[in-house]
Amino acid sequence: MPEVIVQKIIPSALFLLNLFLMCEIEVHAKSAQRPIVIQGAMPVEVDQLIQGLEKVKKEKYGSFVFYKGEINRYPVIVSKTGKGMENAAAATAIAIVKYHPIAIINQGTSGGHVPNIHVFDIVVGKRVTNIGSFKTEIRGKNQGITPTRWMPMDLTASEESEEEVKAGQIRYFEGDQALLVNAMKVSNQYHKGKVVEGTIGSSDVWNNEVDRINWLNSLFGTSVEEMEAASSAQVAESFQVPFLGIRIVSNNIVNGEKYNPDTETAGQSYVYKLVKTYTYNLTER
Ligand code: SAH
Repeated sequence: MPEVIVQKIIPSALFLLNLFLMCEIEVHAKSAQRPIVIQGAMPVEVDQLIQGLEKVKKEKYGSFVFYKGEINRYPVIVSKTGKGMENAAAATAIAIVKYHPIAIINQGTSGGHVPNIHVFDIVVGKRVTNIGSFKTEIRGKNQGITPTRWMPMDLTASEESEEEVKAGQIRYFEGDQALLVNAMKVSNQYHKGKVVEGTIGSSDVWNNEVDRINWLNSLFGTSVEEMEAASSAQVAESFQVPFLGIRIVSNNIVNGEKYNPDTETAGQSYVYKLVKTYTYNLTER
């Protein structure tokens, strides 16, 4: 091999290879450190989680506040979404575009849809669904309204024309398997009630009619209702970001259990433990 090749080309090739490897490592390190976003609607549903963060920095876009910090040296962002489906959707879209999260957890309080789920029990969302999206029957003037005959409507089928949207089709968003497994793993660290997998139903309605709740339960198979998780899940899915809904039961009109505000902090403690375990596993890998 001529000496010039050995002296000039090989060292520069090695330099380029080195540079390439460094970039690769940099990209890998960044992706391994993508934050977890934990959402809560009301201040009382996020305050304790914010206190659990280290090195907190607050960022605000419109009415949407994000508390960027760390748990066990892993980046975690607590997002105060505001109440209801629209706020939850907007907060989720902002979080994904701004922070590229590795996963999103939507957590908070909820109302029981079945008698055997009690105040302080926690429902981990095996699936979440929108229980406020319906197509009604066609009825003329003075023919009345028949809510129990309304048909669930899948809003994610919106690219089809109105005629093609099949009423009666229920759209479920599945909880991320890795998050679900971790959530059930830490359930033995929760002592204020039981932790069960279930279906979380969301809409901009607070239902207090037991007959209506029973009807929703028979239609959608809901364990609890609240006002945010399904809309966050819908946006998370459109960006293919792993998602899990977690709801502590704060009230249950089906079995007559009144709202208990202490559930707000109990739910956050559980979620904090889950995030600690989940991030530990992420950094171990
Ligand atoms: N407590 C207030 C209402 C709060 S709005 C009042 O009675 O005026 C409801 C918030 O609590 C939402 O963020 C929702 O996710 C949660 N929530 C708790 N229990 C609920 C229930 N039974 N139905 C609907 N939302 C519920």
